[in-house]
Amino acid sequence: MSRMQPAEVERIADLARLELDAGEVQRMTAELDDRFATAAQMRADLDARRVASATLVETALARAEAAAGLGAFVHLQPERARTDAREADVRRARGDPRSRLDGIPVAIKDLMVQEGEPCTCASRILEGFVAPYQGTVVAKLRAAGAVIVGRTNMDEFAMGSSTEHSVYGAARNPWDPTRTPGGSSGGSAAAVAAGIVPIAFGSDTGGSIRQPASHCGVVGMKPTYGRVSRYGLVAFASSLDQIGPFAHTASDCALALAAIAGHDPADSTSLSEPVPDFAAAQSGDVSGLVVGLPREYFAEGADPEVLARVREAVAELERAGAKTREVSLPHAPYAIATYYLIATAEASSNLARYDGVRFGRRAEADSLGEMYRRTRSEGFGAEVKRRILLGTYVLSAGYYDAYYRKAMQVRTLLRRDFEQAFGACDLIATPTAPEVAFRIGEKTADPLKMYLSDIYTVSANLAGIPGLSVPCGFANGLPVGLQLLGRALDEATLLRVADAYQRRTAWHEQHPALDWERAK
Ligand code: GLN
Repeated sequence: MSRMQPAEVERIADLARLELDAGEVQRMTAELDDRFATAAQMRADLDARRVASATLVETALARAEAAAGLGAFVHLQPERARTDAREADVRRARGDPRSRLDGIPVAIKDLMVQEGEPCTCASRILEGFVAPYQGTVVAKLRAAGAVIVGRTNMDEFAMGSSTEHSVYGAARNPWDPTRTPGGSSGGSAAAVAAGIVPIAFGSDTGGSIRQPASHCGVVGMKPTYGRVSRYGLVAFASSLDQIGPFAHTASDCALALAAIAGHDPADSTSLSEPVPDFAAAQSGDVSGLVVGLPREYFAEGADPEVLARVREAVAELERAGAKTREVSLPHAPYAIATYYLIATAEASSNLARYDGVRFGRRAEADSLGEMYRRTRSEGFGAEVKRRILLGTYVLSAGYYDAYYRKAMQVRTLLRRDFEQAFGACDLIATPTAPEVAFRIGEKTADPLKMYLSDIYTVSANLAGIPGLSVPCGFANGLPVGLQLLGRALDEATLLRVADAYQRRTAWHEQHPALDWERAK
């Protein structure tokens, strides 16, 4: 440690006292005028010494507790978070913050491993599992100084679109707690929407960041396949999974993505392409950009109110100087079937490792075979079992050609659709989801209905391209999301357009009333 000036020592001592003095923390909490502050606003407050990271983190923890009924978090880590925040305050007091996220409270989905903390993927089968190593995204967040306050609820092993298939119980939508926040990263989306943390991370295999972002009225981004390391991300479907951020603004998403992106020798699928300065690319200027509107996605199937909001958002981009053009993704109608064949095939193989020997929970039995059978029968929930059965079936001899191989061929066609479309436009705009947040219980009895929630999102995963959802208004009082899809590695354009849109609109400044929160 370099030598500190007496004044600095004094400041640090102040911060340390602040940490310990609950009354002071409370006073400063009350002074945080905006519950829904962005990470950028928090950083300005930290820089100006209007607030300490210790206070921000204490506030996030208190809000997570008060909002327990939301089911957004499955595990809080107050001790570690308080220590991290104190260290961030010391660094800042010394004029040495690690990054623009230093001291900012964040949350991660319960499928990213963090050394010494539980990681359950909201599954009974991982009950009691404590991760023995640090995942790369967690390591990068820590290196950036971000303070992880807790782990968020999800559909078991990220299989679902509603965060109802969770061993901890359903997460709820902050805009209407009788509705789902979407899924599978519903806890992360809800945690940001409810003003608990300004940034949270999720994973997107077929829409699990974008769809909950849309339903909760926040921005959510799935980066290009390979942009972010998956070392330490529990695998669902390895050719589709990507980690990405949620935030109130595209500009915070740019910061969050920059912190986690980049090549990682520990993940051979991570790309070695340089990571651009996403924040610097956010010029506010979209003039001349061509926005493609896929004919197939604006036809039928979506709630007319949702389509109306999306069309209005596109019109706003036109007023900002963008041009629009109709494009076609002729194989779009096959996307859902293709996705649910490939994703389940990969899942059935990835989930074979939960055998009661290596991870988590083990059922007692007299023979090895019986132990496997009971561990897996008791450990997995119904949706996960359905996927394993389906995936095993499509990979089995005799059915492989008819299903898995065929799906892989259609995947190539879908990818070509996008290549063609991007020959005529710079980015594509669609609804993120066909409807607003649905009611808890509405689709659990009908898996096919649930699967159709992903109709606009799965194609991007199959093609490996980046996508984001940005709030673009309300239908029946619930948030609607505009999905932007881009060329591989061109997250910068999506973030720039979403940021330009947010500079011209105020949807992201509307927040849920939180009248359901436990009275303090
Ligand atoms: N809802 C989709 C599914 O159930 C996508 C899930 C995800 O992206 N993790 O598979």
